[in-house]
Amino acid sequence: MQQNAKELRSRLIEKVKCAGVVGAGGAGFPTHVKLQSHVEWYLANGAECEPLMHKDRELMIHFATEIVGGLQLAAQTTGNAKPAIGVKKKNTQAITALKAAIQDTRIVMAYFDDYYPAGDEYEIVYTITGRLVPPQGLPLDVGCVVNNVETLYNVYQAEKGVPVTEKYMTIAGAVQNPVTTWVPIGMRVSDVLNLAGGATIPYYAVMESGLMMGKYVRDIDQPVTKTTGGLIVLPADHNLILRYSKTQKQMDRIGHSACDQCSYCTELCPRYLLGYNVQPHLVMRSLGFSRMGAEMWNTYAQLCCQCGLCTLYACPEALYPREACVKGINDLRALGKDKWEGAREVQVHATKDVRRVPVKHLKTRLGVTRYEAEAGYVKMDIQPDKVVIPLKQHVGIASEPVVKEGETVNKGQLIAQIPAGQLGATIHASISGHVTAIQNDRIVIEA
Ligand code: SF4
Ligand code: SF4
Repeated sequence: MQQNAKELRSRLIEKVKCAGVVGAGGAGFPTHVKLQSHVEWYLANGAECEPLMHKDRELMIHFATEIVGGLQLAAQTTGNAKPAIGVKKKNTQAITALKAAIQDTRIVMAYFDDYYPAGDEYEIVYTITGRLVPPQGLPLDVGCVVNNVETLYNVYQAEKGVPVTEKYMTIAGAVQNPVTTWVPIGMRVSDVLNLAGGATIPYYAVMESGLMMGKYVRDIDQPVTKTTGGLIVLPADHNLILRYSKTQKQMDRIGHSACDQCSYCTELCPRYLLGYNVQPHLVMRSLGFSRMGAEMWNTYAQLCCQCGLCTLYACPEALYPREACVKGINDLRALGKDKWEGAREVQVHATKDVRRVPVKHLKTRLGVTRYEAEAGYVKMDIQPDKVVIPLKQHVGIASEPVVKEGETVNKGQLIAQIPAGQLGATIHASISGHVTAIQNDRIVIEA
């Protein structure tokens, strides 16, 4: 019996590895590695909180059975862990679909209010299990694994032998028809925007995977990857785009001259409120307006999760404390001093619950309320002429091509393998066609 369970476990881990499943919520950590752990809780993260993004909600509404199936498999594989799904109370359709799908399972549902960043891993772990991840630690340190709901959908498909070739994403903002759909990996951002009818304005800019933790897309010919959560179009002169366009030097100079140390950035920091010693107002001192050394101030950045709330919501002067934290972390890393040496004890701040930032207020502050739209799921038959598939779309080492230029490939065929003994993820053709180029960092397939 035990032998049988062990075999089933190794078989699923191998299938997930072969299917190239990685964290679809952002970081792209290879899922087969997470599945090798032995934990008490396996948590599905459906608490999407990036303004205008609805892909997790839509996935839960339309693919609840697959998500639940993936969660059950993952929980069994990691030592019969307790499975739970975190979802926002406002997503009533998703809750109804999930409740129907979890009947006769051990899965419990956990409900979140509509605040940002409810989907942060540390928050999910604390809200569902009451456990606090140690500073700089992983949920694994307190017996938990967290996966985005789309990752669990992919685990379910992997078990059936279906590799990851498409990405579920919301295309929103200043587009004709905001929508959520499956997009072939490697398709150009500019072509993906056309799936939503294209931009409604002549001069626009695009944010990838969210306004708060996403990236400003500098080249709209770049391909979508396994971690692209969505695309949001905004006017090129929108305040957010202007802010994201600043260089580090400009941000530092503005911060140096304008920060009055009001500490609002710290008082509203979700990690600070959860009990971690993150104090962005102190990190701002590293910009040079104190006689003390930057190295010491930068230690207050080490536990920052880069949620962006301090920069894009809290700071009344519109400064860049998040970016100061990122710079501080990088500077410490360059000195080989990035290991947390402060207190290990974590104690939730007494005012945490009353200082939460509702997503509604956040949207107002960001100036994007007018772009809120349903962006419901639409099944589309997308046949791009060409895809450019990056060899590194995940945490770890870039994959190595296993096809040659000129070779014919079918959709779903393995085209790049994990280098032996390394952390990484396999990559598959997202369309059928010919391999027309293999470069250092990408494989081009034309239909
Ligand atoms: S909120 Fe802004 S002005 Fe206040 S301390 Fe933080 S960075 Fe400085
Ligand atoms: S980005 Fe700002 S608000 Fe978010 S965790 Fe870091 S310091 Fe705190």
